[in-house]
Amino acid sequence: MFLFNTTKQSDQEIEELSYLERLVSVEKRNRRTFCIKVESSNKIVLLSPKRASKKDIQFVLKRHKKWLDIQIEKKKKMETELQQGQFVSGRHVFLFGSTYQLQIMSGGSDAIFILGKKIVVEVDCRKVIDGKNVSDISNEEDSDILIQEHIQIRLTEWYKEMAKEFLAERTIELATRFRFKVNTIRIKSMKTRWGSCSSKNNINLCYRLIMAPKDVIDYVIIHELCHLKEMNHSHKFWRLVESICPTYVDDKNWLKVNGFKLIL
Ligand SMILES: [Zn+2]
Repeated sequence: MFLFNTTKQSDQEIEELSYLERLVSVEKRNRRTFCIKVESSNKIVLLSPKRASKKDIQFVLKRHKKWLDIQIEKKKKMETELQQGQFVSGRHVFLFGSTYQLQIMSGGSDAIFILGKKIVVEVDCRKVIDGKNVSDISNEEDSDILIQEHIQIRLTEWYKEMAKEFLAERTIELATRFRFKVNTIRIKSMKTRWGSCSSKNNINLCYRLIMAPKDVIDYVIIHELCHLKEMNHSHKFWRLVESICPTYVDDKNWLKVNGFKLIL
């Protein structure tokens, strides 16, 4: 009986391990240790020393199986949350680090406003549907997609307007206080970066930054301002950042952990 149990368990273990192996892409490098990165729920990247055997790799996977299971679950959850990026009442969106619930209301005014912990979006559904070519809309699902697209565009515009005002003003404020010379501030829809700067003293910031807490926003602005003096990520640069923004490590980590949520 005991033997039977053991065999069964190890069979299961092998199966679980081969499940993990299927997800892993091994990249052999000039390194002495292993490094595991869970990129998505179906992709694990394993940086491995060149000389590592298949057995070594299996051993590493087995040893970290529990951790990997947790990470894969986390990624799965994240991915479903992102897929749920729909513009329906009840969905959570971020603004200055707080969560707000979307409330979609049919109304004639096409307004967007904050009401307590809600962001209310008024939509004149009839107008949205009537404005399109009728042959494009064959069923209810189509009109639903149209309305969702309409809300997404308007909400994005609303965020961008707010970002233009807030981020530009805050950048000027911080630049003046800490004596940085800024030329032009542009608020853009950057996909992969929160901010960037040029040798001509121009600063670009991503409009989605206003979804982050104000401390984190300050950190990103200060980071870019400091690049106007130090165009690199040297010790000198980080010391300059720290002298103006002592909490920068926490702010940086906050973005690392939560940045993916700051989307529409
Ligand atoms: Zn930088």
